[in-house]
Amino acid sequence: MGFSALGLTNALLSAVTDQGYRAPTPIQLAAIPAILAGQDLMAGAQTGTGKTAAFALPILQKLAEPMDQGVRALILVPTRELAQQVGASFVAYGRHTGLRTVITYGGVSVNTQMAELQAGADIVVATPGRLLDHLKRGTVTLSQLEFLVLDESDRMLDMGFIDDIKRIVVTAPKTRQTLLFSATFDEAIFKLSKNLLNDPQLIEV
Ligand code: AMP
Repeated sequence: MGFSALGLTNALLSAVTDQGYRAPTPIQLAAIPAILAGQDLMAGAQTGTGKTAAFALPILQKLAEPMDQGVRALILVPTRELAQQVGASFVAYGRHTGLRTVITYGGVSVNTQMAELQAGADIVVATPGRLLDHLKRGTVTLSQLEFLVLDESDRMLDMGFIDDIKRIVVTAPKTRQTLLFSATFDEAIFKLSKNLLNDPQLIEV
């Protein structure tokens, strides 16, 4: 089955073609229709399975066009490297949408990132500590958030980000759609999912 059967718009199908992808991967086949349908997800997927496109494509589609309303999608990731990779994917897949993606992570000066955020972002890809810093400074607000993604959740918990994640999530509306990705599942992940997800569909590939 090709990407066109998944219900994606032409703007996204053409970006996928630009990337040279010919067919969706198993996680993309399972997750894209579920996310487009509005489901919360708990997805088991390793790096290299195409998990980034599995959440980025349907989120870009549902956001549809830029709005000066504050951040509408937040992707939390464990490391700077992953923030750069996931951010670059949103930029590449969203190139025909006009949606603005800003990447922010710790360990570097906050000033440039603050200016980028203040210029307007529909999508923010962030490490939890730095995002919390922006929330405290008021450079980000999540009151209009429609999508929350926790990518590589097991690594975020291993790295001790649980309290930061909780502090971030309480500032977002409960009406948001939440997508949790993890390479492994244990008690801690299930506990997190119970707190954050609303009747999630479980996908394992
Ligand atoms: P990820 O698991 O999201 O880190 O993606 C791993 C790699 O697979 C990235 O280099 C993507 O560009 C690539 N990729 C994602 N989806 C597809 C697809 N449907 N066909 C071919 N390559 C893909």
